[in-house]
Amino acid sequence: MPSPPNTAAITADDATIAAALGESTVGALLPAVAQLTGDLSVLRADLQPDPDNIMDPQAGLTAAQVDEARQVALAALVAHRNAGNPDAPPLDDAALRQLMAWAVGEANVDQYFALLCEELAPDGTDWRAPTWHLTDIAADTTFTVAVVGAGMSGLLMAHRLRQVGVEVVVLEKNPDVGGTWFDNTYPGCRVDVPNHLYSYSFAPALWPQHFSSQEVLRDYFSDFATTNDLRPLVRFNTEVTSMAWDDNAGMWHVEVRDVAGDTGGAGGAGGQVAKATRMSRHSP
Ligand SMILES: Cc1cc2nc3c(=O)[nH]c(=O)nc-3n(C[C@H](O)[C@H](O)[C@H](O)COP(=O)(O)OP(=O)(O)OC[C@H]3O[C@@H](n4cnc5c(N)ncnc54)[C@H](O)[C@@H]3O)c2cc1C
Repeated sequence: MPSPPNTAAITADDATIAAALGESTVGALLPAVAQLTGDLSVLRADLQPDPDNIMDPQAGLTAAQVDEARQVALAALVAHRNAGNPDAPPLDDAALRQLMAWAVGEANVDQYFALLCEELAPDGTDWRAPTWHLTDIAADTTFTVAVVGAGMSGLLMAHRLRQVGVEVVVLEKNPDVGGTWFDNTYPGCRVDVPNHLYSYSFAPALWPQHFSSQEVLRDYFSDFATTNDLRPLVRFNTEVTSMAWDDNAGMWHVEVRDVAGDTGGAGGAGGQVAKATRMSRHSP
């Protein structure tokens, strides 16, 4: 198994690392250190979170246990930095099971193993990447799928459709991608779900905060669109105003409005562009 994705070299001095560790939760800290350094001995039984106490940020550990765990992590991270931040050694399934078992407080994680691998994507593998391609199953079929919206759902759908070879167009009324995280800009706007869960498992990021702010999320989805070359698939400033299923043609007729033209026009309606587009044999 390759190294964990997106790990940055540690360059901070000991005091800075220690201060950062002062903010950490042990249940996440020690498995992360173990994965980074390959040193599974940091997963000490006497510092293991209590699975019956997971609503407590430190999962029932005493202040002394938390201090001890941070010291263990500090020693391992300092050694890692002093060694020149070597690549993490590969974690085989046995090591991953040990790591997960420690984190969830159970000796046997067989029933969770596949789920956790998929959700955590510890090596960055895209476990849900399609295993088929349109040309394998319907080589003579051509059609276009219209996706409405370039938020986190629409971007992923466009990415997946292109992976299987289906032509796709994304109709987005905004001038950029991001959806919710483009639209909402009020002070303090952020997720209330930890970012390691609120993100694509196969596109991990170095989140600056556990619950990142709107700008960070907007940039994450924007970067995802750029990195995966999705922008050419998106018709920006294009609002879907109606969709009608044509049973005879086996297609959706999608009406769109050029929002940019509209805003530039006099009297509100000036500059509107409406056109019927035969988009897809499938539900958008
Ligand atoms: C402030 C805030 C905080 C949130 N925090 C969380 C959280 O912590 N955890 C969580 O799970 N969820 C949270 N949500 C819910 C959030 O909306 C979803 O998690 C997620 O953004 C939904 O993504 P989406 O792509 O399905 O929809 P959206 O992000 O809403 O994207 C839809 C896109 O479609 C476009 N669109 C809509 N109608 C049309 C049309 N007719 N024509 C063309 N384009 C159109 C929009 O412009 C937009 O870009 C939060 C929402 C808000 C507003």
